[in-house]
Amino acid sequence: MKIDSQKCVGCGRCQHYCTMGAIYFRQTMGKVHAAVNEEECVDCGVCERAKVCPVDALYQPIHDWPRSIRGTFSNPLAEHKETKVPGRGTEEMKTNDVTGRYRPGFVGLAVEMGRPGTGAKMPEIEKVVMALAALGVEFETKNPLTSLIVDRKTGKMHPEAMNEKVLSAIIEMLIPLDQVPRVLQAVKKVAAEINTVFSVDLTSRADENGLSPGALLAAEHGYKISINGKTNLGLGRPLAREV
Ligand code: SF4
Ligand code: SF4
Repeated sequence: MKIDSQKCVGCGRCQHYCTMGAIYFRQTMGKVHAAVNEEECVDCGVCERAKVCPVDALYQPIHDWPRSIRGTFSNPLAEHKETKVPGRGTEEMKTNDVTGRYRPGFVGLAVEMGRPGTGAKMPEIEKVVMALAALGVEFETKNPLTSLIVDRKTGKMHPEAMNEKVLSAIIEMLIPLDQVPRVLQAVKKVAAEINTVFSVDLTSRADENGLSPGALLAAEHGYKISINGKTNLGLGRPLAREV
């Protein structure tokens, strides 16, 4: 995001909308105006979409790769060229029930980095990806972040992406239920080495007692279960092709 310093009247309204703290004020030729710290800005577009600027001073330039990564991972209206899926996860990750991918005995596991309101730099994301790759997990191919992993065996990510920061990114995989404990342990271990926030998402079909096998395992391994987890009643299931 950029701010036209000629237009800006320094009212400060846009600053309240930036969770990255990227908007600051400076003085040019005696005039106080807002500016954007481009290192911290994730090109989410929230400040502009809020439409609070009285003089229309905010504008989003079109960025080339690799800077373009910021917008595609942070602006919900942007489309990922690799997957054609807007947002951060795969389609089923978001709706929970369109492909039939989450079958009994398997758990969709994701590490959602940078939310709420903190952001994640690529080297931090890479640390988690590498810790998971060391366990031999298979990363979800239709996930936008997977397209940035250049070596799926080691989890090494694209070197040109390493200076980028995103509002959030989802590392996503499908794993057998019995592998869940070691993955959860690995995530806990790497948590001490990363400098941002994250949450772990577990998607599984309810068992015959209506309980979530993934949630039960997470609680067993010391993870606090969020009360705002989603329950999908399976209304889309008849449309899904079971795999
Ligand atoms: S685009 Fe997003 S991160 Fe950048 S200045 Fe605006 S609100 Fe902040
Ligand atoms: S809302 Fe517009 S005029 Fe006010 S500080 Fe932000 S860019 Fe400047």
